[in-house]
Amino acid sequence: MKHKNVDFRNLSGRGVWRYKNLIAGKYSKMVTLNEGATPLIKSRIYKSVYYKFEGANPTGSFKDRGMTVAVSSAVSNGYKVVVAASTGNTAASAAAYASRGGLRSYIILPKGKVAMGKLAQSILYGATIIEIESNFDVAMSSVMKLYKEHRVVYPLNSFNPWRLEGQKTIAFEIVEELGVPDNVIVPVGNAGNIYAIWKGFNELYEAGSIDRVPRMIGVQAEGAAPIAKAVEKNLDQPEFVDNPETVATAIRIGKPVNWKKALKAIKLSKGSAITASDNEILEAQKELARIDGIGAEPASAAALAGYKKLLSSGKISDDETTVIVLTGHALKDPDVMIKADARRILVNPEHLDKLILGDLGL
Ligand SMILES: *Cc1c(COP(=O)(O)O)cnc(C)c1O
Repeated sequence: MKHKNVDFRNLSGRGVWRYKNLIAGKYSKMVTLNEGATPLIKSRIYKSVYYKFEGANPTGSFKDRGMTVAVSSAVSNGYKVVVAASTGNTAASAAAYASRGGLRSYIILPKGKVAMGKLAQSILYGATIIEIESNFDVAMSSVMKLYKEHRVVYPLNSFNPWRLEGQKTIAFEIVEELGVPDNVIVPVGNAGNIYAIWKGFNELYEAGSIDRVPRMIGVQAEGAAPIAKAVEKNLDQPEFVDNPETVATAIRIGKPVNWKKALKAIKLSKGSAITASDNEILEAQKELARIDGIGAEPASAAALAGYKKLLSSGKISDDETTVIVLTGHALKDPDVMIKADARRILVNPEHLDKLILGDLGL
């Protein structure tokens, strides 16, 4: 696609379809829940940090941005059935947009490994849920095989290029609201989103609408870090992880389908990739909630955990404008939230005054 200089003042509407002239493909029908237009929230503690809170999307994750475009494409091309392998958020989003578009949906999930909120959403939206006794990577390759052999079902995984087209609007919203930041930090699982966001910036750059592209920084969990390790060791190709493990289930992926694209985005933007431990992820999740009042799921908090490490090692300075993409809502994973340390006190209601006044030292 040749990119024309974008005058944002000429656009109308809010959210993903505000940028319809910049989204490739033709759509005879748009299946939308008014996704996108998510809040950009300034951090209270890090002076040049902004959180792009994707948990504010209709099903609670950035997946909705891609799903509106991919399901619109499915409907415009006459498909009646969609299928998606998922660690959870793709399932919730695919199920919702399938309903909205009047399609049947089949969701392939690794049994026992999907966060409760995401499973519950898929059930509510009425998807057929198929569980496999294996991990996400196996679920994904079976969807790819199904699609190659039987083209009657439309695949909604992140090898679907229309999803990435929708997700790139995160970059457009950041530019409109803030301009071009120095760094954009993104948690990386299948590695589509970091590429999609870079693609958004890069298209604006090639069109002459912005004069530079931010450094794209990927964060992976220690137990599922093929891309971060490839960047660290300067490999041309990642070493896949057979049994990925992390509390951040949305990025518990050992064989990221979009690894090539992600490495390209990181390299061309002079970015980097690092890992965060489960402990660092959970600490970052609490910090976000208890200091900034933002509830993000563990995978999203990994991006903040990564920022904190880069800040303390001096690889990023606190003068650099940094956008941390918080990819999903905390409610997605109630089991993790409820295990956080808490002050919970059982009291006889008659003694409430004594308890609180005593607690306050009054
Ligand atoms: C899907 C997802 C990711 C990972 O995005 P990829 O494009 O697969 O790298 C990160 N966080 C959340 C909450 C997600 O749902």
